[in-house]
Parts: sequence; structure tokens; C-alpha cells
Amino acid sequence: MEELGRRTFLTGCIKGLCACVAGSAVLRHSDSFAGTDTAIPLSVSPDKDQKSGKTLSRFTREAMEYVAKDNGLVQCTLCPKMCIVAPDMRGICGVRENIGGTYYTLVHSRVCAAHVDPIEKKPLFHFKPGSSAFSLATPGCNFTCTFCQNWQISQAKPEDIRSQYVSPADVVSAAKGERCQSIAYTYTEPTIFYEMMYETAKIGNEAGIDSVSISNGYIAQPALEKLLDHLKAIKIDLKAFTDSFYRTYCAGELKPVLDAIKTIRAREKWLEIVVLIIPTLNDNPKEIDEMARWIAGEIGPDVPIHFSRFHPQYKLKNLPVTPMSTLNRCVEICKEHGLRYIYVGNAPGHPNENTYCPSCSKPVISRYGYFIRSTDLKDGNCGACGHKIAGVF
Ligand code: SF4
Repeated sequence: MEELGRRTFLTGCIKGLCACVAGSAVLRHSDSFAGTDTAIPLSVSPDKDQKSGKTLSRFTREAMEYVAKDNGLVQCTLCPKMCIVAPDMRGICGVRENIGGTYYTLVHSRVCAAHVDPIEKKPLFHFKPGSSAFSLATPGCNFTCTFCQNWQISQAKPEDIRSQYVSPADVVSAAKGERCQSIAYTYTEPTIFYEMMYETAKIGNEAGIDSVSISNGYIAQPALEKLLDHLKAIKIDLKAFTDSFYRTYCAGELKPVLDAIKTIRAREKWLEIVVLIIPTLNDNPKEIDEMARWIAGEIGPDVPIHFSRFHPQYKLKNLPVTPMSTLNRCVEICKEHGLRYIYVGNAPGHPNENTYCPSCSKPVISRYGYFIRSTDLKDGNCGACGHKIAGVF
């Protein structure tokens, strides 16, 4: 998961977003997402559910991916957990509720974090390098990772998090106002705000702004296929290469994530993979070797892989920072499998922050952290030898 700076989600309502959201009432809150219900005008009137007669909030929309069952039950078909949900109950992610036999998302337009970031921060290193991405999140997640960087917003109930009503059209306008080339659905897990992402990406495409998803890849195949019609690039957090890690530390499974990666690649969307290397939990060289072999064999050597350095946080404060020697060993293992674009993240100044030409080995993009220092790319080709560099440039 991409880390959101603490200041960003506590006070980070950017100027362009405020200006386009709802005019003067929101401008009173121009430095904050405190957004009390009374201060923000309703863009959507409260509505009544037809069957239960309950008042629905302006953040509530009927879910796109579910089936109604007998006795008022519904089954959510958005992610592999496939929750069966009784009336007045929510699915495991806590952001979808069965109201009178109809399933609703509770986080449509419920933006709890928004920021303009360099696309490199996602990280996407081969997708329009040097451009800005209008980045947003709503509360919630379908995983419970014990090492989550943004647990304050990903593991909370929507009603417990300060949020602001921002419609898909508002997001697109704000992205345009901030001269962003893309909109990034990030910080929490965008699958759980699927309807918001889907609608925003569709409107963004019509306005000439790309959409990129920064995801754990834990999404059902039909929902993914539909979404891919509107996305240009996806970064997947591959948490580990063992099912036991997924079950123990994330409350998920490995196979659906690998299936999602294969589907994204088959649909020819730009894909990058990030692996957070956590000492003793997923850093076994044999596991990295299996992962690198799978990537090379199943999705090809041109998909960039980023090994990210772990820092103790959330429920894993007992573990040390990832040693540089471990990250360097991961790089070497991937090289042995012929992977062409291998990066080390959360380690500013590391030589593997740069993109090297797979043919002549000269640096084609030099970086420090998220920032580009120099490029030697000509129409997507290496400036030194002319070799085509994989990506969207
Ligand atoms: S998206 Fe949420 S409600 Fe739907 S199946 Fe996944 S965890 Fe359950």
C-alpha cells in the first residue's frame, strides 16, 4: 500500500479540490477535511430505501457487484471473500451494507484523503514519468494487514473517519485544475470503493485524464474485467509469495492476487508490482526465487518489480528495518531470472531507484526518491542505444 503522509490525511484538503467541490461552504474548510455534515452542502439529497423505508446517506449508492438471495440475504461478488450479508449487516470490509435486501456501498464520494503526488510515489516508474497524479482514498479495506502504512484510514469504519463529499465529476475537475495527467485510487484499497473508482475513471477518460489503481489485487475477476475497461495502469502490492503469509498477516489468499495480475497483463494494461520485504516473514531467498520465476514465466520480464524497505509500524513494531543486504539479494535473484526493471524503494540514493536500459545498461531515468533527476529517453527509447524501454511514455 502506498504510504500517505500523516499531515496529508489529517489536514490535506488541497486548494483545487476545495475550489471545485462545493463553492463557498467548503472554502470555509479550505485547510481541512474536518467536513462536518452541516458545513458541506448536500450534492445528493437523502433518499429512502424502497423496501425498508430507511434514510440513506449521501455517501450511499446501490452496489454494482452483488446478488440478492432468499430471506433478504445478499452476496457481495466484488472480492474473493464473497461475503453473504444479512439485513442490517455489513460485509467484512465494513463499507458495504445490506439495507432491506439491497446491497449498498457506504463510501461513494466519501473522500477521506486527497493529494497531488508525483506518479513515482505510487510507485509507477514506467507510466508517464515526471507527471502528477491526483490521488484519493475513501475509508476501508478488504485486507487487515498487520503492517499497514495507512491503518488509520484503511482499518476504520467510514463513519469514524473525517470525510468530505466529493463526487466523481468533482474529482475529475480537481485533477484538471491541478494539471494532473492521471487520477490515482490509492492509500486505502480501491476495490472497496469500486463504484466511485469506476465512475470517476469513466468520466476522467472522457475528459482525457487517465486512471491508475494502486491495489492489493484482491478483486473478483468479473469486477476486475469491467474496471479494466477504464483503467490505464495498475500497481499491485504482492504481499508475499506464500498463501500462509496472506492468510496470517492479511486475512487474504495468494491465488486470487496472482490471477488478477495475469488478467491485468493479458488485457495489456500497464502493470508494476511492489513487494514490501519484511524481515523474517517474506524475505526467504527461496520464496523470492519462486516469485521471480513466476513473474518471468507468467507475465514476462518487462513488468517492473519494486522491492520496498520495511520500517516497523502498526502491529509489526517488533521487527527491524529491512537490511540493505536483503534488498540487494532480492535484486540479484530477479536478475538471475532475467527480469529487466528491478527497483529498490524506501531507500533514497540506492542505485536501483534508476531505470537502466536492458540493452546497454546506461541509466535512462535517474531518480532520487520520488523525484526524477535526469532522463535520457527519446520517444520511449534509450537515448544511448535506441533500445525500446517498456512502459507508457
Ligand atoms: S468487498 Fe467487502 S463486502 Fe464485498 S466480498 Fe469483499 S470484503 Fe465482503
